[in-house]
Amino acid sequence: MWARQWGYRIADLVKDNRETLIELDRQIGDADHGENLDRGFCAVAEYLDAHADPHAEDVLRGIGMTLISNVGGAAGPLYGSAFIRMADVANDELTPATLAAMLDRAVAAIQGRGHAQAHEKTMLDVWLPVSDAVNTAVDEGADLVASAQLMTETAHTAAQNTIPMVATKGRASYLGERTIGHLDPGAASTQLILQALRECVS
Ligand code: ADP
Ligand code: MG
Repeated sequence: MWARQWGYRIADLVKDNRETLIELDRQIGDADHGENLDRGFCAVAEYLDAHADPHAEDVLRGIGMTLISNVGGAAGPLYGSAFIRMADVANDELTPATLAAMLDRAVAAIQGRGHAQAHEKTMLDVWLPVSDAVNTAVDEGADLVASAQLMTETAHTAAQNTIPMVATKGRASYLGERTIGHLDPGAASTQLILQALRECVS
């Protein structure tokens, strides 16, 4: 089932990119992002092994709760609440409308908890343009594969677009203009989370 597959796939991708995320966070933060997320998604994989939840909704809620209780730092509660809110609109069959609604809920959760706006050099700078692009495409009739493809393409561009931004939220904001020229670690991990979802769509 797609939601379980998604959780396992994120765990693999985060493990493979652990050092990259640590390095990105070393440049403009405290070098713990890769470690935090790897710990969190290992716990997610253990949660999935232990709970044979048949419904996507329960799986996403379980992933969110697991992240909140296992990930320190800013990203844990932000990703955790995104998964919990995505659970509210998830269905066992992933449709374009479900995907669009999930992205919209993730944005609402991240903004509700972190109070960031666009262009503050955070993970929101990926979730927001991705949600906008996918929601527009789905309204215009895009199918699931095209929507998921657009999701990862937009995520890539949006993550790269954080490089010239000045961080004004979170720990990186302490460095002010010295954050210019660096990719935001949360933008990079969001790209992995969305890449993993893309791989669950055939
Ligand atoms: P910490 O900054 O506490 O060490 P992490 O290193 O795990 O936490 O996560 C850092 C990432 O969290 C940043 O790269 C940024 O994308 C994201 N982030 C931080 N604060 C916010 C916020 N208020 N809203 C959205 N994202 C945020
Ligand atoms: Mg950090």
